[in-house]
Amino acid sequence: MTAAAPRTPADLPKLIRHYIAGVHVESADGRTFANADPATNRPYCEVAAGGRRDVEAAVAAAGEAFARGPWPRMSARERGRVLCRIAEGIEAREERLAELESFDTGLPITQARGQARRAAENFRYFADVINALHEAAFRTSAQVGYVIRKPVGVAGLITPWNTPFMLESWKLAPALAAGCAVVLKPAEFTPLSASMWPRIMAEAGLPAGVFNMVHGLGETAGAALVEHPDVPLISFTGETATGRGIMRAAAEGLKGLSMELGGKSPCVVFADADLGAAVDGALFGVYSLNGERCTAGSRILVEESVYPEFVARFAERADRTRVGRPDDPATEIGALVHPEHYERVLGYVAAGRKQGARLVAGGERPAHLPDGNYLAATAFADVTPDMRIWREEIFGPIAAIAPFRDEEDAVRLANDTPYGLAGYVWTTDLARGHRVAQAIDAGMVWLNSHNVRDLRTPFGGGKASGVGREGGESSIDFYTERQLVSVALGDTKVPRFGSADDD
Ligand code: NAD
Repeated sequence: MTAAAPRTPADLPKLIRHYIAGVHVESADGRTFANADPATNRPYCEVAAGGRRDVEAAVAAAGEAFARGPWPRMSARERGRVLCRIAEGIEAREERLAELESFDTGLPITQARGQARRAAENFRYFADVINALHEAAFRTSAQVGYVIRKPVGVAGLITPWNTPFMLESWKLAPALAAGCAVVLKPAEFTPLSASMWPRIMAEAGLPAGVFNMVHGLGETAGAALVEHPDVPLISFTGETATGRGIMRAAAEGLKGLSMELGGKSPCVVFADADLGAAVDGALFGVYSLNGERCTAGSRILVEESVYPEFVARFAERADRTRVGRPDDPATEIGALVHPEHYERVLGYVAAGRKQGARLVAGGERPAHLPDGNYLAATAFADVTPDMRIWREEIFGPIAAIAPFRDEEDAVRLANDTPYGLAGYVWTTDLARGHRVAQAIDAGMVWLNSHNVRDLRTPFGGGKASGVGREGGESSIDFYTERQLVSVALGDTKVPRFGSADDD
């Protein structure tokens, strides 16, 4: 590994523009902002900074495509074919997508490749879902009621920077499958891979105006989308604090909301666990995707009797985890997305030290990487629940490790968090594994496994981690309105108001 800057991808755009009604456009007021790569923090392109007028144009285009265009009226089979062509378009560009994603986000190139594949899979999967979808009927001797699903309308999709293209696909695929038209507002830190969507969508035959994209800052472009009266749905993935603000703003318009927010998930290791597998799982859980992962198992709880051994093994492997250029295939942790975020993450290293946690790995910029947002895989042991590194989502490569006494103590500590997104349990006692998994207050728990997700399963969390679920049929539920049509099967005995004799 060298300290040199990553290779700059060929043919980078100089200006990333919005995409409205099938046309690339600049902001109405001509404003732009600079975008840099996180390995050097050198700006390499400008991005259109969308405002209210751009959002209005995008919503108008989507509204027109929804009200009068063919998309919501097509058969599921026809829409499914377009989705499959979108998947093919993504797969055909896999290398390019991975290269751009890695360059713009700082994710290791090997992990960026997985994201492109996953994005394509989302479209194929939702093509299957709408083709297989059936609508329910309810029958009594007097009437039959059947339920139809209608696409809700224009969906506003607001996404974060950690795995941008994949998370965009996660919302785009079900929204389009359901027959909605969309306005996507990608994260301002990572707009590059999103610039590939317009061509992919157009080549797949998606009618113009169904997919629209407005770049820009959250407080301007994002807020304008949330407040727009003609956008009945907002699907948001991002920080809990941002989510709270969006829910407040959306209350006025009584909008449908899907909120995928932050996490601080426990990884519970019992003494009887396969310790080698548990160390592998815990390391991958907190350091993959640079630790910038909502489901990161960032609080690692270990049973007292194996705690010293686990900490030693974990720290030794953390020290050997390769931090380096995002484009180097040997890299396991790349550069954190942005200097502001990097400073925030370093603030947690300082907080851990100050509050008395024991630093057992990392804690500093690796010596061979003098520039860029690099941090060595970092681990603190003996972390207690009063410490900030235990309570707050860091979203970087920092593990907080603590011992527990017994099962009850493990569950108490696992749930001692405002968040409730994910959990991981390692034990060979399966009865206990199920008990503990079910006792953890989180939307998703993996037992003796890292985060492997079946696309059919509901994804999301409770408490401060969100409201609602995405994935599988939950997504279709969100993007469709169910309508009941009830039909009398014979004479209905309607109470006859106004038919009484006057006496
Ligand atoms: P963020 O909340 O800062 O931004 C997310 C998006 O919201 C961006 O597009 C941003 O421009 C926009 N935004 C910001 N302010 C807005 C406003 N007032 N109105 C409308 N839009 C606004 O989050 P981030 O820093 O980009 O992403 C990291 C966070 O995302 C972490 O907390 C992480 O846990 C969370 N996340 C959650 C999941 C999940 O599925 N639960 C998945 C990935 C990331």
